[in-house]
Amino acid sequence: MSQETVTVQEFLLKQQKLESDAFEALPYDPKECSYSLGPLRQQLYACLTCFEAKNPECKRHLQESNPNDEKLIYNAVCYTCSIKCHTTHHLIPLYTKRNFQCDCGTIRVPSDTPCQARSSTNDIPSATNRYNLNFEGKYCTCQRMYDEEDGDTQELADQGTMIQCMLGDVCGEDWFHEGCILGLKDCVPKEEGQLPDSDDFDAFICWKCHEKWHKEIDEMVDIEGVLLKEVDRCEMKPHETYEDSTAPEQESKKRKLDPTPSESSIFLKNGYKHKLSQHETKTQSLKSFLKKFKHISQEDPVYEPPMDQPTTDKDSLDAMNTIPRDQAIEGIMAYNDIKDKLKGFLKAFAEGDKIVEKEDISAFFDMLKKGQ
Ligand SMILES: [Zn+2]
Ligand SMILES: [Zn+2]
Ligand SMILES: [Zn+2]
Ligand SMILES: [Zn+2]
Ligand SMILES: [Zn+2]
Repeated sequence: MSQETVTVQEFLLKQQKLESDAFEALPYDPKECSYSLGPLRQQLYACLTCFEAKNPECKRHLQESNPNDEKLIYNAVCYTCSIKCHTTHHLIPLYTKRNFQCDCGTIRVPSDTPCQARSSTNDIPSATNRYNLNFEGKYCTCQRMYDEEDGDTQELADQGTMIQCMLGDVCGEDWFHEGCILGLKDCVPKEEGQLPDSDDFDAFICWKCHEKWHKEIDEMVDIEGVLLKEVDRCEMKPHETYEDSTAPEQESKKRKLDPTPSESSIFLKNGYKHKLSQHETKTQSLKSFLKKFKHISQEDPVYEPPMDQPTTDKDSLDAMNTIPRDQAIEGIMAYNDIKDKLKGFLKAFAEGDKIVEKEDISAFFDMLKKGQ
């Protein structure tokens, strides 16, 4: 007989702790896939495992892939599907994208990875989802890999802060390195203070989106209380040369000789939405711009799946961002898996008010390991 014993009470307390740890890491109940809700602004994960399986000819380490290439089948899955259906796959967090419908269980994902939440394999994918290189783990105009497993770790450490474009029309809500916003060759600016502090601005519009909508945006930022800072890309040439290293030689020479027109990104002040809504005298073009992109001036919440437990606090949500995701998922999967079996096992002891021996627990886990 073993001397070490645990009571059911103690054991359950331990389990409760495990459960609350898992909850802090992933507070939402991974039950419902968001597909049926249609296009949403939501947290997304690109599954590289499924992407590679659907595009066997695509070597994503080479720069040759092109998001405009209709042949490439990109995907991104919702919070629930990242946990339930692609658990062991290589996922890249995309943070949020607007107007996006989950691709899990559609023909964008191999049929040997069915959607567990909807029990489907060949649903029709959204016709309005938009994809860019982010869905391969590449970000910014420099197209660097953000993913630490694939990228050069030294390079990753040098990347510094990235900022997401709020307008997203041309760039697809891409993320940009601070250095690239400034048009520098390096991702990280050498001097501090060239860009506003993250606390000081509400939203960022990249130079590509600004270029397309410059008339409307310039009118918008003339409204008092909207513009914080307009930042030029000053040292364009070396960066463009770097970017175009795969372009034909003639073209890259041409670029070096041509003076590049000024391109600038926009930082909007905290509370700019309120100022915009208060301002009455807008031209027709600005009005239709704000109507087309409602999220610029209106509230634009991110969809949240139902919570796992009725209450949570801010600390739990903060903790979610500090626990490594892989670990958290492994924890919650392992826990869910054994929870039911363990309950049944403990019930016998609890009913008889018996003491659980350490050996009993070991025997239970041995049994699990053997897959019984
Ligand atoms: Zn889903
Ligand atoms: Zn997958
Ligand atoms: Zn799924
Ligand atoms: Zn960059
Ligand atoms: Zn943009």
